[in-house]
Amino acid sequence: MLRDLFDRNREWSVTRKQEEPGYFARLATRQAPEYFWIGCSDSRVPANVITGLDPGEVFVHRNVANVVHSSDMNLLSALEFAIDALGIRQVIVCGHYGCAGVRAATEEIVHELADHWIEPIRRLARQYAIDLACAGSAAARRDRLAEFNVIEGVRRVAETPIIRRAWARGDDVAIHGLIYGIEDGLLRDLDCTIRRNHPAGEGPGG
Ligand SMILES: [Zn+2]
Repeated sequence: MLRDLFDRNREWSVTRKQEEPGYFARLATRQAPEYFWIGCSDSRVPANVITGLDPGEVFVHRNVANVVHSSDMNLLSALEFAIDALGIRQVIVCGHYGCAGVRAATEEIVHELADHWIEPIRRLARQYAIDLACAGSAAARRDRLAEFNVIEGVRRVAETPIIRRAWARGDDVAIHGLIYGIEDGLLRDLDCTIRRNHPAGEGPGG
């Protein structure tokens, strides 16, 4: 059943070794990625592919609708490892237009477990109801909500003790909010970056 995957993997491995003979030996010694990526699980938004980054260049956490829950041990463990062990300074929260998770948060259909997961997006939809009403169509409203979800994610990451500690140490960690367009393959900066000296980012040492 997985034969196709193994075939593709072998082909990829051979090609990489031909392109750079010491490629895997180099990667095996250490990873030193510049970026920590928090994105959606959607199969159309793989971090490495859409950013043109190679293995070893981006540390990745993905979940449905790139929600930042303050108590998500999976995300927090990855964030802590990224900041404290790998010394990453660029954290990216990336959402995307046409997100099914965001759409689900705007519907009245029951999704069982997923409803708990996307509850923060429902809250944002209520909070920004007036702004969202200004968007032209239902699709435009969902895309705007996807942007609000990213901006909220950036704020929540900035509020974690992991980032507060990093700022207190003097580490110049920046948290950026991006959104990706599935229809054109382009990333957009939502201009909501929070840095150590940003008013919203003033930690104990900031
Ligand atoms: Zn999505």
